[in-house]
Amino acid sequence: MKKIVQGIHLIDSYYIEKAVAAIYLIIQNKEVAIIETGTSHSIPVIEQYLSKQELSFNNVKYIIPTHVHLDHAGGAGKLMQLCPNASLIIHPQGAKHMIDPSKLITGTKAVYGEKLFNELYGNIIPICSSRVIEADDNFQINLAGRKLHFIDTKGHANHHFCIWDKTSQSIFTGDTFGVSYREFDIENNIFIFPTTTPVQFNPKAMLKSIDKIMSYNPRFICLTHFGIINPTEKVVNQLKQSIKIMSNIAVENYNKENKEQVISNLIMEYLLQSLTKMGIKNLDLAKKKLTNDVNLNTQGLIFWQQKVNKTSK
Ligand SMILES: [Zn+2]
Repeated sequence: MKKIVQGIHLIDSYYIEKAVAAIYLIIQNKEVAIIETGTSHSIPVIEQYLSKQELSFNNVKYIIPTHVHLDHAGGAGKLMQLCPNASLIIHPQGAKHMIDPSKLITGTKAVYGEKLFNELYGNIIPICSSRVIEADDNFQINLAGRKLHFIDTKGHANHHFCIWDKTSQSIFTGDTFGVSYREFDIENNIFIFPTTTPVQFNPKAMLKSIDKIMSYNPRFICLTHFGIINPTEKVVNQLKQSIKIMSNIAVENYNKENKEQVISNLIMEYLLQSLTKMGIKNLDLAKKKLTNDVNLNTQGLIFWQQKVNKTSK
């Protein structure tokens, strides 16, 4: 797996376990942008990496979570305290949650439960509004002469943007371009599927955002979950297809009494079948790796259907 592409450095945040959630640094003439913060537990890893490059938190100019879900933005408040010269760049719909994270904390506890929340995320620290820059669609920033361009991408969340780095022809896609774990790579084939986390999943918007991302003709897609991939036609088709299949599973089974169980079983079955077709043999290990995503996707799909059913009544 590529770990460094033209000034882009991939760091493992060790969220849950290794190779689940990435943090990217763009380093340009000693100026640093941090894209995705991981959680507050990830901060020592970032500090160590910077010091290996003979840099420190003083060199950090921008801290840029793609959206405010806490595996992407949980460490932002603590990092902002440690990086005196940094501004936080965030989607306009996410800014209020970084300035006052109370609703974000309550919402995340509803998904993970109090105990797991504390283990995974620790303290979430508010950020002073004077240090927050809201990035609309087409917003641009300058990192020592290197332009970073923001693209509004709904579908996974309404507070989600992606970042286009023309210098490396890369796009940082957060959760918009799905999840693809490197342990499932076989030769040139990769395994990719959408993340439909609660509470704003919208399949139509997600498909549109994927087209928007591809309209830049990126050479590389920097996935938060996990790593740098080439967005070939095959990869894009696989991703789009799986959005449709997972959405259909939700639509077809939403009215069943034990919908949560049925939907999560069907999603796991679909993912394992796809892996089998690719030639992956150790399905027990695959199941273990995918369980958390399947649970989150199931919750998000059911939430989406609840909303659809409410508005159509
Ligand atoms: Zn997310």
